[in-house]
Amino acid sequence: MEVDVLIVGAGPAGSSTARYCAGKDLDVLMLDRRSEIGYPVQCGEFLPDVKEMYTMFPRSMDLEELFAIPEELIAGRSEAVDLVSPRNRTYRCEFLGATLDRRAFDKYLAKLAVEAGARLETGASFLGLKGGIARTTLGDVKAKVIVGADGPNSRTAVSAGLSRPEMRYPAVTCQADGDFEPVIKMYFGSMAPGGYAWVIPKRKGANIGVGFNPRLLKERPSELFSRFVSKLGVGCRDVTMGLVPQSGPVKRTVSGNVILVGDAAGHVMATNGGGIPIAMIAGRIAGRSIRDSLTKGAPLAEYERLWKHVLAKPLADSLWTRKLGDLFFPTDRRTEFAMTVLGKRGLARAIRCRRVFYVL
Ligand SMILES: Cc1cc2nc3c(=O)[nH]c(=O)nc-3n(C[C@H](O)[C@H](O)[C@H](O)COP(=O)(O)OP(=O)(O)OC[C@H]3O[C@@H](n4cnc5c(N)ncnc54)[C@H](O)[C@@H]3O)c2cc1C
Repeated sequence: MEVDVLIVGAGPAGSSTARYCAGKDLDVLMLDRRSEIGYPVQCGEFLPDVKEMYTMFPRSMDLEELFAIPEELIAGRSEAVDLVSPRNRTYRCEFLGATLDRRAFDKYLAKLAVEAGARLETGASFLGLKGGIARTTLGDVKAKVIVGADGPNSRTAVSAGLSRPEMRYPAVTCQADGDFEPVIKMYFGSMAPGGYAWVIPKRKGANIGVGFNPRLLKERPSELFSRFVSKLGVGCRDVTMGLVPQSGPVKRTVSGNVILVGDAAGHVMATNGGGIPIAMIAGRIAGRSIRDSLTKGAPLAEYERLWKHVLAKPLADSLWTRKLGDLFFPTDRRTEFAMTVLGKRGLARAIRCRRVFYVL
């Protein structure tokens, strides 16, 4: 089969890329190994408000257009984030956001891509590259551009000789029923070594999870997770586990006719593991760059220059803050101390991808 663009993965990155490069003049094929797009949900489902996104990514533009999300895909809204220290000291930071129904959200993004003209094949896997031809479970595909939007374990990256995100932290998540205050809770300390545990409220229930640095974990992830769930005293269903890139963007996101987007490119905020906004912002840039390359002869490498212009600094600052946090995370005492020193203001900067101190 021959196509103009082959997109591997129909998550937020792949669907956004497809949406902005598809059209009558280009044959865009998107494939995903999942038989149901968006399921299982391996995500906290939190999406910052567009106003917060402009603060986090000041060079981004037209976010209202990209994030015009129908109300029925919003499972809840929150007004603030409580950062809770190992001794239960709470630092409340105002922060507007929504909890998505991610199972439906990913389908919605894929639908936008199909409406723009892309073709979607589910239950179809990319297997590797051989002589520039993509081997897939649908057969061999010859494409002018191949997009790796296949998440943190990107097979596309490896087969194109590009790097995958070096550090990937495991995170366990589940759905809980009950009534929860419309405030995000982030718990730090030994209940989530090197990461944090969260409660992200929905109108009915919450998304609950724990993300951690595997090198600091002294027990099984399931034990760590059960301890947190028992502490909250809630029941849990739909438990899943996923990986969160934690080492910042990979060095190169374009090689020949292959580009990487979203988690595959390490497009995740290292301080909080948030990747949905960046996957979509980078996806839109990727889609437009591919279109310009195929219809106007612009270099494909423009994609890398453009995403770096918008996202590189916030992602670098976020990584810097995470690395600073690593110095304190190993013990509860040091975590407590660090949170006291940073205070509400420093912590609020950290969750917005900024350096925690103005001077550093
Ligand atoms: C537990 C957890 C909680 C998180 N919480 C949040 C949060 O609250 N807010 C937030 O912003 N971010 C969160 N993230 C991060 C966020 O989920 C990701 O950054 C985001 O999904 C990235 O989108 P993506 O399209 O790059 O990758 P993905 O959403 O992972 O999509 C990749 C797609 O590629 C497909 N695929 C993989 N390999 C192949 C193959 N070989 N062939 C075909 N298809 C393939 C997969 O099936 C998948 O559908 C969380 C992550 C985890 C693991």
